[in-house]
Amino acid sequence: MKRVAIYVRKSRKDENSSEDKSLELQIDTLIRIAEKHNYSYTIYKEIGSSVDSNRTEYQKLKDNIQLGIYDNSYILAKHTDRLSRDLLEALTFKNLLEKHHIKLHTPDGIFDFSLDDVDFANNIQLMLNQQEYKKTRRKLLKGKVEAAKSGNYMSSVIAFGYKRDPYTKQLLIDESKAPIVRSIFKLAVGGIPINEITRIINQKGYRNQYNRPFSSTAMKYIVKNQIYIGRIVYCSTSLGEEVIKDEAHEALVSQEDFYKVQELIKTRITGYGRRSKLGLKSPLNSLIVCGKCHYPLILDKDYQYKEPTYYTKKCHKCGGTVGQKVSIVEKAVFNALDEYNDQILNEINSLDSFTIDDVKEKLTYDLAHLQKQLRKVKVKDDNLLDLYLNGEIEKSRYRSRKDDLDEEAASLNQSIADIKTEIEQQSVESKKEQMLKLYNQSKMISSLSLHEQNHLFSLLIERVLLTKTEKYSVPEITIVWREL
Ligand SMILES: [Zn+2]
Repeated sequence: MKRVAIYVRKSRKDENSSEDKSLELQIDTLIRIAEKHNYSYTIYKEIGSSVDSNRTEYQKLKDNIQLGIYDNSYILAKHTDRLSRDLLEALTFKNLLEKHHIKLHTPDGIFDFSLDDVDFANNIQLMLNQQEYKKTRRKLLKGKVEAAKSGNYMSSVIAFGYKRDPYTKQLLIDESKAPIVRSIFKLAVGGIPINEITRIINQKGYRNQYNRPFSSTAMKYIVKNQIYIGRIVYCSTSLGEEVIKDEAHEALVSQEDFYKVQELIKTRITGYGRRSKLGLKSPLNSLIVCGKCHYPLILDKDYQYKEPTYYTKKCHKCGGTVGQKVSIVEKAVFNALDEYNDQILNEINSLDSFTIDDVKEKLTYDLAHLQKQLRKVKVKDDNLLDLYLNGEIEKSRYRSRKDDLDEEAASLNQSIADIKTEIEQQSVESKKEQMLKLYNQSKMISSLSLHEQNHLFSLLIERVLLTKTEKYSVPEITIVWREL
């Protein structure tokens, strides 16, 4: 009769449940196996600590194996993972069994370590790799967060206007590029819209780090980048930490100016979205802003006249621009459009693939970045499932984390789809087509409906600046055209 060892211990999953029940169940199962094969058995029943060195029964079992008591026999256990949670220990134990020609008998089958059990070896290898991978990845992330805390700049792309000190890893001002950044912010503080800034900067002959004209997407990144106020922000979603470090390097822009620019960007987005309760009153609806503070001006009906007549109300924000009849502004814009049409035609003819390549390059870079993030979410999703299946987290926790990850993935997928569409639209031909369409529409603007006119103007015009300081003074009207 073969003498075998039955080894039982709680799994992590069982730790909250009644201990005896789980252990007795394991013992029952294993005794049945022993009886079926006509083995005589000794039971090693682990009750106490889960730390390997404190597991007295496990140590006793190992001692007995070394004494040769179980040579050429079996160890009965519920699962290979019951023997050790520590991989190194599991491997040592496996070698011990191999040396004494002991097989592991579980309800799932017999593991013979002297044979090349590919499955088992693979499993161990896989677990090892995964553990190593997780550890390394965590270390890497932790390192990045720590580096941000100490003010080292770790992004692989250096912000325009800076260079990296190879020794301290901190950012230094690149005086060959810094004046361009300062000019950009100076324009932005003055309320000049991004597209217009891009045009002005490129016209001055300034070029980006790849020696190409700036795209407005890149320009948007610049005016929003907190790097320029000397701040480093590193956000690690995996570690759930956001590190902000001020005075990490010399600022190129004052905080005051920077936040003013952010405010201006925000007002422009929110300000234009508003729709008046009186409906559409002018082809210039939501395009007219105060020339002093760039705050949107509200149109109102003037009841003195029989015909519907509208005027702009006094600027709500600064009060610097007083009321003005809208028809005067409309007339000025329609006149300007006539001249602008020639410019559109010129642009269509001079359209080359150069600027489009630049925009495309940036978009492609963004796309790759988003796709990388999506892959990361998928890895996290896999790891989470592992944790759950290994019984290391509760179902409720798994569900809530899973929901978060699903949401993150959905929003990334949406952004990826958006960028893909944008890239598709960035071909020279479609750009030409778009501009020709605009040109044809603006040539026949007087025959369009009020809504169509308003739509066309919002495609062509970023905003109309209106300045009028006193009731009878001549209004100053400046049209800021969009970059086509
Ligand atoms: Zn104002």
